[in-house]
Amino acid sequence: MNYKTLYDVIIIGAGPAGISASLYTKRANKKALVIYKNESNLEYAKKIENFYGFEHGISGKDLYKIGIKQAINIGVEVKEEELLKIEQEGNNKFKIITTQNEYISKTVIIAIGTKKAKSNIKGIKDLEGKGISYCAICDGFFYRNKDVSVLGSGNYALSETNDLLNVAKRITILTNGEKAPEFRADNVDIITKPIEEIKGQSRVEEVVFKDKTKLKTEGIFIAQGTAGSTEIAKKLGILLNSDKIVVNEKMETNIKGIYACGDCTGGLLQVSKAVYEGTVAGLQVINYLKNE
Ligand SMILES: Cc1cc2nc3c(=O)[nH]c(=O)nc-3n(C[C@H](O)[C@H](O)[C@H](O)COP(=O)(O)OP(=O)(O)OC[C@H]3O[C@@H](n4cnc5c(N)ncnc54)[C@H](O)[C@@H]3O)c2cc1C
Repeated sequence: MNYKTLYDVIIIGAGPAGISASLYTKRANKKALVIYKNESNLEYAKKIENFYGFEHGISGKDLYKIGIKQAINIGVEVKEEELLKIEQEGNNKFKIITTQNEYISKTVIIAIGTKKAKSNIKGIKDLEGKGISYCAICDGFFYRNKDVSVLGSGNYALSETNDLLNVAKRITILTNGEKAPEFRADNVDIITKPIEEIKGQSRVEEVVFKDKTKLKTEGIFIAQGTAGSTEIAKKLGILLNSDKIVVNEKMETNIKGIYACGDCTGGLLQVSKAVYEGTVAGLQVINYLKNE
């Protein structure tokens, strides 16, 4: 327990959204704590070339690490702990429960990104960044006029398929044994057979099904499960739209004192949008604390 300290703001997540929020709150002399797991969507981005300020682009891994260091360097307290839940504590405080600790704060900024279900199909891990992608809007461009696949069967898989419709030549939705989704488009096929393995020498080449049939494909977009951060929000009664946290233009959720920003609020899943929303959330928290 860490009840001796009452934080002004606890920020969950150390990606572009959470770190941006922490920079603004700390520079306004607020007692800020960032809690994060050592894993972010950003780390899957092999090279980011569409974010301002990097002459030759930057790897997502490096950008993630630099952001955390930047926050630590200006005095933000940063802890690597996994958030389990957030609870209301009295009228206007929150208890943040992690795997190691409990903290009390006047406000909370949720910046936990989106959760992507990891697949244990043989070959996926080895071919990550070599034809295995987790983001159609980010990487679809590299598959112009090519035959690609989307692994998944839920709404998230369909949304990834939609993002590829006008880019790829043919898209095959691979449900891996799950029921086929309701989806029709001229250049989309659906295969429901269970998958044995993804094969390729230096890049993805083919999908081998359990019945030993094969499908040639040049890229596979992983979109299994839901891409959301619903559990935390649901426990607190935060309003969700599908699996995204509903916020207004001030990044306020329906619960006073709780803000959300970045990928977990939906919309454009890009670094620049996460930085913007983190900035707004940070500034709004400063404002809120003035009036409490
Ligand atoms: C393959 C790929 C390529 C991409 N390429 C680009 C690109 O070229 N350009 C671009 O602009 N964007 C790109 N993106 C998108 C970009 O990475 C995200 O939009 C951005 O990282 C969102 O920032 P965020 O702070 O909202 O969330 P994230 O960066 O995902 O950060 C979430 C944070 O929350 C923490 N967290 C999550 N759950 C918990 C928990 N239970 N307890 C504690 N901490 C938790 C994580 O550890 C992490 O610190 C790409 C994404 C992917 C997957």
